[in-house]
Amino acid sequence: MIDPFGRTISYLRLSVTDRCDLRCTYCMPERMSFLPRADLLSLAELDRLAAAFIRKGVRKLRLTGGEPLVRRDFMELVAGLSRFLRSGDLDELTLTTNGTRLARHAADLARCGVRRVNVSLDSLDAATYARITRGGRVEEAIAGVDAALAAGLAVKINAVALRSDNLDDLVALAEWADARGADLTVIEVMPMGSVEADRVDQFVPLGEVRARFERRWALTDLARRTGGPARYVRTDEGGTIGFIAPLSRNFCDGCNRVRVTCTGELYLCLGQPAKADLGTPLRASADDVLLDAAIDAAIGRKPQGHDFAIGARRPPAVERHMSVTGG
Ligand code: SAM
Ligand code: SF4
Repeated sequence: MIDPFGRTISYLRLSVTDRCDLRCTYCMPERMSFLPRADLLSLAELDRLAAAFIRKGVRKLRLTGGEPLVRRDFMELVAGLSRFLRSGDLDELTLTTNGTRLARHAADLARCGVRRVNVSLDSLDAATYARITRGGRVEEAIAGVDAALAAGLAVKINAVALRSDNLDDLVALAEWADARGADLTVIEVMPMGSVEADRVDQFVPLGEVRARFERRWALTDLARRTGGPARYVRTDEGGTIGFIAPLSRNFCDGCNRVRVTCTGELYLCLGQPAKADLGTPLRASADDVLLDAAIDAAIGRKPQGHDFAIGARRPPAVERHMSVTGG
């Protein structure tokens, strides 16, 4: 799959549910309305969609949500999709999770051939974590990280930098991650969907976060790129820290990914409304002719880049919340 700007699409992020057991203040409002369960793609449909993208050249598949591990048949999906790892059609099958249920599933994920997980953890401080997640217990996420490491999975910690919440906690989080052999990636908050807080108050440009890290370590920029938006540095103690700065640094030139929601909507860019309905062609016939045509037509309309910006009284760049397309 090659888009109009010559970018090869080899990475799919597939959301398996919009539901979540947490309510992070930057991700969704406290009273989030979720989709009726009947609207969600079934396990077989999710599998068929993923298979269609893999046939078209996707080499990396990330399962996400909402919180993927709250979906009851999630491990069945992973077990089924692991056939593409065994056949060599997929290089990587992975997931993004908040970690609260990871302790229960880490060993099974490893058995299915999952090698890495991204765990979202914005602070190690119990009170701060509970405030950001609106009631989450940080011990659960920590237990999830430890279980993943014990199962032999590589762990990347994702933290969204938030002006009045975790800015003072990020150095400790980086130290903690490094002590466990996990990388930390810090992310700028993106204006996706309405939340109670003002995005202007939440937003911290990552240059500011980097300056804090530089007071603790000497940092060396790394050339390493993973095909994704992160830029990496190495600390003088050997730790690796990533920065994803969609607002202060546009990274769309090398974009290799698309996203499918749990209802089968294909989003061509995280920061643009452009989408295509894949649920209808998927359900319209048992063979994949219509589905394949819908995917091809959509890839031909992938936008060049996002228009994220945060400013006073600016509406969200896109109306949907991050939990619709996953991270
Ligand atoms: N529930 C899982 C989790 O939290 O890892 C997966 C879905 S969550 C939507 C994926 C990632 O998106 C998380 O790392 C989360 O921190 C990030 N995220 C959510 N809303 C965001 C926003 N408005 N700006 C930046 N990152 C956001
Ligand atoms: Fe749930 Fe992840 Fe959104 Fe937090 S960031 S509310 S854990 S989907």
